[in-house]
Amino acid sequence: MNNKLEIGIVGTGIQGISNALFLQKKGYNVTLFDRDDPGSPAASYGNAGHFSPYASLSLNRTDVLADVPAMLLSSTGPLALKWNYVPKMIPWFLKFILNTSKKK
Ligand SMILES: Cc1cc2nc3c(=O)[nH]c(=O)nc-3n(C[C@H](O)[C@H](O)[C@H](O)COP(=O)(O)OP(=O)(O)OC[C@H]3O[C@@H](n4cnc5c(N)ncnc54)[C@H](O)[C@@H]3O)c2cc1C
Repeated sequence: MNNKLEIGIVGTGIQGISNALFLQKKGYNVTLFDRDDPGSPAASYGNAGHFSPYASLSLNRTDVLADVPAMLLSSTGPLALKWNYVPKMIPWFLKFILNTSKKK
């Protein structure tokens, strides 16, 4: 690797900071850019700070697919679709379904 590379990262939330730290440890010079002052209330400023086991599971699982019809029929369900956008989403849906295999 060429450690003389200068790397710029846009966004000083947890993603930007974590990537900058990782790259700095690898010996790169990193500059962070943000449109706001450090510590401004972006998502990383005000989160609840808990590690969420539900978020470490893959979302595209076959059991999730089986739940989709019920989610769509519920007015308070976690999934809503803009029906006229569905044709555009088909390639994404297909990739989502193909990635439900255990191998993936
Ligand atoms: C209320 C709340 C509670 C949460 N609780 C939890 C929790 O308990 N556990 C958990 O794991 N996650 C939680 N999250 C989610 C978590 O906080 C976010 O997923 C995470 O902080 C996102 O980090 P980020 O670096 O991607 O984005 P951000 O923290 O939003 O940082 C993005 C940065 O990019 C900058 N930026 C954006 N566009 C530009 C641009 N064009 N030019 C320059 N700068 C730009 C912004 O100013 C910002 O500083 C919570 C989120 C919220 C809102």
